[in-house]
Amino acid sequence: MPNRLHFDISEWLVLDGTEAELPLTASLVQKIMQYHLLPANEIREALGHPVFVRSGWRPVWWEHLKDRDGDSQHCYKSKGATDLSIEATSGKPYKPKDMWLKFFRLLKETDYTRIAYYPDLRFFHCDYKTEERKYYISWQGWELSDYKTLADLVGANKNQNEGHSM
Ligand SMILES: [Zn+2]
Repeated sequence: MPNRLHFDISEWLVLDGTEAELPLTASLVQKIMQYHLLPANEIREALGHPVFVRSGWRPVWWEHLKDRDGDSQHCYKSKGATDLSIEATSGKPYKPKDMWLKFFRLLKETDYTRIAYYPDLRFFHCDYKTEERKYYISWQGWELSDYKTLADLVGANKNQNEGHSM
């Protein structure tokens, strides 16, 4: 076990800002712990900076309410998905790019097989859908990319508030 847990499982159970209703199945809890919370905890330890769960589990009924098909990895039919960021929301000034690059390098070291970067929303969607590691970039929809392209983008992103007085 890690020295310290930086996350609470409830962080994976937030829907529209509200914690989802119980009960949870043991299987879901196990998937969140093994495939998401513990890897996120390792990243958090190595990074020395808060890591935020932007989205974790999303039940099928909730996806249907949102006019989605319910086949998202976020429904945890398989190993599940997590959206991770070093910013709680995308509305805040961009954190130092060194921190973003370190965060991305740590994500690269995980067992996640699909990592999709959302530059506008500033988070990484991470799941296990593919056999081999694949990188994507998502502006409007997902496009296949590669580590270097994403790293360049992460490094090039800058504080959208730079040059403006607050
Ligand atoms: Zn996602």
